[in-house]
Amino acid sequence: MTEQMIEDEIHYCAIHPDVETELRCNKCDRYMCARCAVQTPVGYRCRECVRQHDDKFFNATPADSWVVFGVTFGMMAVFGLIFNTLFSGLALFMAIILGFPAGAVVGELVMKAINKRKGRNHWQIALAGVIIGALLGGFLGAALQYPDEFRDVQAQIQALKETNPAAYRQYADLYPSQTNYALQNTLSLGMIVFVGLSGYAVYLRMKP
Ligand SMILES: [Zn+2]
Ligand SMILES: [Zn+2]
Repeated sequence: MTEQMIEDEIHYCAIHPDVETELRCNKCDRYMCARCAVQTPVGYRCRECVRQHDDKFFNATPADSWVVFGVTFGMMAVFGLIFNTLFSGLALFMAIILGFPAGAVVGELVMKAINKRKGRNHWQIALAGVIIGALLGGFLGAALQYPDEFRDVQAQIQALKETNPAAYRQYADLYPSQTNYALQNTLSLGMIVFVGLSGYAVYLRMKP
């Protein structure tokens, strides 16, 4: 006959009192079930100990979030403007060459600006800055490329709007307004690759 187990040798999870377990947190020693255990490089720990450890690891200040966004947004706005102004014909080629290094530079500057403090969601904020900054810079760059001959006929095209709507639509397609022209030329394949590669480099630098 097997010996009957003594009551106080059965242990239950501290969070889930109905779950039997023999697993203990190697930091605070409390019993925890498989659902509560988190595998860390130093063994299984309970969620609370992992969170306390994370809070020490993520030492960023609230202001750092704004710095992360400001630097990525500002730098990528400049890069996006330059990119969409200079490389219209070679955009894809230049994006493949310059995208990753540009992002690496931005990531390095951001980390320097926040004294290398770590934030849980800094990489997401940085990616938002990269995308919004590059799009805005690209839009401005495209707007600056607006051809003079388009500008010269805008008054005449606008006049057609009332008198001859069919002709207006036809000419407005051929000679778009500055805003429409910039919108059409903001998202080229080269620009998408540029943003993608620079965003990836920033992510690699900023991920926790
Ligand atoms: Zn613990
Ligand atoms: Zn549990």
